[in-house]
Amino acid sequence: MIDSFRHKGLRQQLVEDIREKGIKDENILKSIGKIPRHLFLDSSFLEYAYQDKPFPIGFGQTISQPYTVAFQTELLQVKKGEKVLEIGTGSGYQACILLELGAKVFSVERHKKLYQKAKTLLPTLGYRPKLFYGDGNKGLPAFAPFDKILITAAAPEIPQELLRQLNPGGILVAPIGNLELQQMISIQKISSDKFNKQKHGSFRFVPLLEDKAND
Ligand code: SAH
Repeated sequence: MIDSFRHKGLRQQLVEDIREKGIKDENILKSIGKIPRHLFLDSSFLEYAYQDKPFPIGFGQTISQPYTVAFQTELLQVKKGEKVLEIGTGSGYQACILLELGAKVFSVERHKKLYQKAKTLLPTLGYRPKLFYGDGNKGLPAFAPFDKILITAAAPEIPQELLRQLNPGGILVAPIGNLELQQMISIQKISSDKFNKQKHGSFRFVPLLEDKAND
């Protein structure tokens, strides 16, 4: 697993690209500058790892575009020591960004092979989020409540069960909409039945599916 000077240089360029696109949180930019994104991609995509683009990670899924990762993370306003639930582990890249920000990370993936791949790869890079194989729509009741919840796949609506598993004062960020286009939504939980919702523009994600994958 090589992280060369060239990779580091390309990564700094990516950080500057994302900064220019409007990401201001220095801790998030630092994390993107630190995490070797090329090691999360299949070798055939190595050359592209530091372009600000999503890429296939197998099984019809993608690693999100770095700008989108940074944008969602900024909306989440993660503070050191917070418990963060991610739905859609995918490559595990986003989970590593959350760990770099000092969060305790719980991440759920419905695709068994992706779950296994992340579980093997991440510790070799020094990252140890708590990874789970299952349907993220159900959250993780045994570990709830969470301070922050991040959905990294497109949902037609906000899963109510996830709002229940959010601490009062906590924030949930998710792309909500149809398969073509979603609005990035952030919701702050004021109390058990009071929520403050904001919209942050259009994005396109792979879908949040029901239940576990059989393949
Ligand atoms: N956060 C990822 C990118 C996620 S792509 C990264 O950093 O690489 C969306 C992921 O959500 C895919 O891996 C997909 O398999 C997963 N997914 C879709 N429906 C799900 C569900 N119901 N529960 C958990 N994961 C789900």
